[in-house]
Amino acid sequence: MGHQATAAELPPHVLIFPLPMQGHINSMLKLAELLCLSNLHVTLLLSDFTHGRLRRHANIESLFSRYPGFRIATIPDGLPDDHPRVGEKTMEIVLSLLKVGGAEFRKLMETTDALSDGGARRRVNCLIMDGVLSFAVPVVEEMGIPFIYFRTVGACSFWANFCFKEVIEAGEVPLRGKDEDKYTYWKKPEFDLMVTSIPGMEGYLRRRDLPAFCRVTDVNDSGFQTIIRETRRTALSKGLILNSFEDLEGPILDQIRKPIPNLYSIGPLHTHLKARLESQNGESLLASGSFYEEDRSSIAWLDSQPANSVIYVSFGSVTLLTRDELLEFWYGLVNSGHRFLWVMRPDSIVGKDKEKVVPLELEEGTKERGYMVGWVPQNEVLAHPSIGAFFTHSGWNSTIESVAAGLPMICWPYFADQTINSRFVSDVWKVGLDMKDSCDRVIIEKMVREIMEERRDEFLERARNMAELAKKAISEGGTSYTNLKRLIEFIKSSV
Ligand code: UDP
Repeated sequence: MGHQATAAELPPHVLIFPLPMQGHINSMLKLAELLCLSNLHVTLLLSDFTHGRLRRHANIESLFSRYPGFRIATIPDGLPDDHPRVGEKTMEIVLSLLKVGGAEFRKLMETTDALSDGGARRRVNCLIMDGVLSFAVPVVEEMGIPFIYFRTVGACSFWANFCFKEVIEAGEVPLRGKDEDKYTYWKKPEFDLMVTSIPGMEGYLRRRDLPAFCRVTDVNDSGFQTIIRETRRTALSKGLILNSFEDLEGPILDQIRKPIPNLYSIGPLHTHLKARLESQNGESLLASGSFYEEDRSSIAWLDSQPANSVIYVSFGSVTLLTRDELLEFWYGLVNSGHRFLWVMRPDSIVGKDKEKVVPLELEEGTKERGYMVGWVPQNEVLAHPSIGAFFTHSGWNSTIESVAAGLPMICWPYFADQTINSRFVSDVWKVGLDMKDSCDRVIIEKMVREIMEERRDEFLERARNMAELAKKAISEGGTSYTNLKRLIEFIKSSV
């Protein structure tokens, strides 16, 4: 008979609660694995809906055999199954969770005795939670469980959100007028005025670069106010985890340390996890957290392309394109004469089926030099030797994944934090070009040429340097490595 662990001998037990969205789950899942590798017990809290998608399209259940301490718990997100959960409607996931989440979270924590699995696990002794979920706070406070935030955005956007009150006081928002036309409106020179109210960002942040949450007509907008309130609350927690690293966002991380001294920058999380898996298990196959079926023919296609010749195009898991935007991108890419691998999610184009006729020249250009798929294993694609650059919507995961892969970027930010991420790419790290507030085939063609040919060497040199720094951060003794150790010590000390 094996020795039955007494309650005191059981490992610490962390509950990880991401917003039920692709980008959030991807990075939280990596953290869950890293904690399991340090022999902690981890429960990942998903919505029923996302759990269903992960079971259908990802090998999430392989984690149960890989880590005996890993479990999944679920709660409903309050939306009907057929809700689209993409585009502007993603905000409805947050609003719905804010409505139903408090009661559901309390029920889960109370009826399952903080997920102790009939005594096989310690009661949860630490909550790591996403932003905008502060309904969980009173529940864990009553139970005496400490909580840490993990914001899956960059330090740049977190800090800008943290300073929104000051941005309002300085009269630098709201940015939106009534009934404006999407692209012509943003051409106004007033959006090029510099933002002066965010400490540490003076000199390079224009009003148009502020997180797109500022694109409201009224500063009392409830979504905008929710972001302000929830972000400020981070300072009440025991600490803040960010999927970033000191050499990438050091000056901004130092700003955040003023109100939130206990900061854990532990990224890039996917390479951090890969390195740990390699050193502990000798293999580094990452579990997929994809909401969509990964099309592996993309890798076979890349295998047959010359080195550094392909631009990878993907706008993430929630972006929607109108038919007009789709055609501008398509013409721009085909006219550039470069090869491209383009992820077009099945639910990403707005418009009717009968409008889906493709002009002949696009069809021919694509057959010659392009490949389109519904979803790819992105980190495998970014690491592929045929890839030369990344045309991205500047979601934070895509940004940091690109940084880790040492690839130059063209940025077409769509909403949320993406507008500020793209500014950091182009004007702070100088590893790419920002085409925000435009969607024009001539500009796209020009930017693809710039990034793939004319200014390739300068972008590539800076991108590769940054990738080296990312590698150093997660290696033994590096800042992210040390911060993760410190985080694990904190969790252990809170049993
Ligand atoms: N992703 C992927 N395959 C794809 C497109 C995206 O695996 O074909 C992953 C990507 O690696 C990233 C996430 O989906 O981790 C998207 O997150 P991001 O923060 O970039 O954007 P969001 O989807 O949240 O807008």
